[in-house]
Amino acid sequence: MSQIARKLIDENGVRTDGRKVDELRPIKITVGVLSNADGSAYIEQGKNKILAAVYGPHEVHPKHLALPDRALIRCRYHMAPFSVEERKHPAPSRREIELSKVIRWALEPAVFLEYYPRASIDVFTEVLQADGGTRCASITTASLALADAGIPMRDLVVSCAAGKVDGQLMLDLTDIEDKEGEADMPLALMPNFNAITLLQMDGQLTSDEFEKLLSLALDGCKQLNTLQKEALKSKYVAVKEEVEE
Ligand code: ADP
Repeated sequence: MSQIARKLIDENGVRTDGRKVDELRPIKITVGVLSNADGSAYIEQGKNKILAAVYGPHEVHPKHLALPDRALIRCRYHMAPFSVEERKHPAPSRREIELSKVIRWALEPAVFLEYYPRASIDVFTEVLQADGGTRCASITTASLALADAGIPMRDLVVSCAAGKVDGQLMLDLTDIEDKEGEADMPLALMPNFNAITLLQMDGQLTSDEFEKLLSLALDGCKQLNTLQKEALKSKYVAVKEEVEE
């Protein structure tokens, strides 16, 4: 059977990985996983495995890039050559350059950039294993790495996609659902302000479907935000226990 003819959701509304339409993939988040970075976090979202690290604030090089009234955020999204089935060229592709920019746009509104004029805050996200939705998981993880680096923020940024596959609206698409589905809509949110910092859409939807997908993705973001906060808190519980030993 060709992949195109494959059914991605059965008559009981169960997807190929056993999830229901409104379910996120299993998620595991850890904050503070690298000792040499100023801040770091790691996420496993289904088969996605992504590491985020923050370096800064520090002096900008080359100096002419420095902004007189605020910090510069520089993001690099990169997929490791072994992150997908066929070896990916290690050099940054056009897609990775675009996603680096998209991740920066999603994160910038949350950071008090004006606290660090002429400085740079560098955010690296390294996709170790990819299975769809890596830009969203990178944003979710990078915002935790920023918080871990002690960068003052208005809110965390959390991100999740929803899409349309086999005519059904569903949350958190895997690679195959994304590739074979009709639409994909990544969303990033500052949950305490209910402010959307990124909204993209690939494919076609009616306005009613768009409204429903938006609400599905917002709900996914809120669930993920609870996990983000738990992961941040557990780092400090571990530090407290270490100090008290
Ligand atoms: P996102 O990961 O944010 O959904 P895309 O929609 O561009 O971004 O990509 C969807 C998925 O396609 C990725 O998560 C990854 O699993 C897969 N993919 C992306 N680039 C490559 C590549 N060069 N080779 C193989 N698979 C890739």
